[in-house]
Amino acid sequence: MLQKLIEFLRSYFQWLFRQKQSTEVVVIQPEPDPEDSKPQDGSDVPADSTSVEIITDMEAVEEELETPIEEPPTTPAPTSPTTPPPTTTPSSPTQLSSRYVWCLDNGHGKFTAGKRSPKMSNGKRLLEYEFNRDIVARIIPQLEAKGIHFYNVVPEVEVDNFLAGRVLRANNLAVDRKKIFVSIHSNAGPAPAGEWTTVNGIETWFFHGSRTGKKIAAIFQKHLIEQTNWKNRGIKSRPTSQFYVLRETGMPAILTENGFFNNKEQVYELMKDEVRQRIADAHVAAILEIEEKGL
Ligand SMILES: [Zn+2]
Repeated sequence: MLQKLIEFLRSYFQWLFRQKQSTEVVVIQPEPDPEDSKPQDGSDVPADSTSVEIITDMEAVEEELETPIEEPPTTPAPTSPTTPPPTTTPSSPTQLSSRYVWCLDNGHGKFTAGKRSPKMSNGKRLLEYEFNRDIVARIIPQLEAKGIHFYNVVPEVEVDNFLAGRVLRANNLAVDRKKIFVSIHSNAGPAPAGEWTTVNGIETWFFHGSRTGKKIAAIFQKHLIEQTNWKNRGIKSRPTSQFYVLRETGMPAILTENGFFNNKEQVYELMKDEVRQRIADAHVAAILEIEEKGL
């Protein structure tokens, strides 16, 4: 009887132990978050990266690519039955007839890790998503007034991590003309967490190897430097580890990096209403130039 009891207890404890073990070894892997796809923008590119191609002479690029360019999109655009309607405005006869649909991507969400300045002396921080959204909000009415077709990729004010969703929305947009993707950001330079960088200026990124992307980037960069008079950091591309929004969009795509929010002097500029307006106006001027001349 005692033997049986001992055996029962032994098998019970073995069972209990297995249960415990099994609960310990079962690790639930979270779904991979595309927002973790690095790099997302210029701030994720290491400062010592040697694989970045930088061109600072915008006129030379425009001259080189003066003849019209025809090239297939970098990736085929999937179609979806849940395609949202485009945000377009009918053109009047005195307005430009829009050649393209401009997909305006106000990069990042409120909860995207990092992407915020150190504390300024007034105790505030610049949140990059708020800056990006504000620039797009300043671009839209100007395009509406000119009858230029556009698509606001993220009309929501506050949205969680949404990198893949942004690209999918633009790719799924069914329109009767070519689309161009413009992702708008502010940059962060190398600095220990919570400290300031000395790096400053403006740069525009394009998909490495895309002549159309290069030409669009050069035109945006030219207008951004003209409007702000900030340091020209050139147009940039990387043969490897290209940004998600440049790599996965089925259309020519660029990404503007408007100043450095973790540069102590520049962050105060980026908070100013008139500076933001100039940055928005530069984007509009680039769009109008491309609409007038074509690519
Ligand atoms: Zn960014």
